[in-house]
Amino acid sequence: MTECPVHPGAAAIGTCARCGRFYCAPELILLDEKSYCGECGVRDDVDWLGKHYRNFEGRRSGLAWFLLLLGIPVAAISVAALPSTETGGERGLFVGLLVMSVGGMTVMSGQAWSRLVLLGTIPLAAASFVAGTGSPWAAFIAVPGLMLSISTWTDVRTKLFFRRPVERVELRKHFAREGSNPMAIRASRLALLSLFLPGLSVLSLSMGVMALARIDSKAVPPVGNLSVALGAIIFSLVSSLIWLGAFFGISV
Ligand SMILES: [Zn+2]
Ligand SMILES: [Zn+2]
Repeated sequence: MTECPVHPGAAAIGTCARCGRFYCAPELILLDEKSYCGECGVRDDVDWLGKHYRNFEGRRSGLAWFLLLLGIPVAAISVAALPSTETGGERGLFVGLLVMSVGGMTVMSGQAWSRLVLLGTIPLAAASFVAGTGSPWAAFIAVPGLMLSISTWTDVRTKLFFRRPVERVELRKHFAREGSNPMAIRASRLALLSLFLPGLSVLSLSMGVMALARIDSKAVPPVGNLSVALGAIIFSLVSSLIWLGAFFGISV
């Protein structure tokens, strides 16, 4: 029996794909069909998807912010409108909207129960719509709320915010969009801003070109976002032309 060099008495069952040392069964870390020893398997450059998970873990997602920014005006309008409602239908509508919007705002807490609260407000809101109007069809007003509620369970970014487990396939897709080639993402944001600020397109264009040069699908982790880099370059060129046209137009 070959013994594990780190865990005396334990049998070695293979060699690490990174450092080549023997590892035993309890410490084995399997990542993308490769086997690593206990030390290598937790390295950021080996488990880069794990690092990506930790980068976003507990950080509020766009969906959470959306529910807050939508919830504040809807709740405010409902509270303001309620005292002057004249029909049962109006009352039912504003009570339902108030209940749903408050439920949605709790998602910002990042607590697991907040998703249940939001889900629980949907039948309450639907019941309020139906009770107010007397028509069972009024329940359908709650459908957008239901869809938002479901997406708090399915949206990968929101799962990261809630520190839920995320399949590596899903995490890989999210990394391809949000984690891979941050230069391309920054270039595309600057390119958009360059429409409002002259001269910025020069910066966004050079960043877009740099991002394009960095793309390497074979690297670990892979560097992608080709379409974002190309989009930034094209957008920067268009923006430059618009600004040049504006200055040229003024000077003539
Ligand atoms: Zn190793
Ligand atoms: Zn071992």
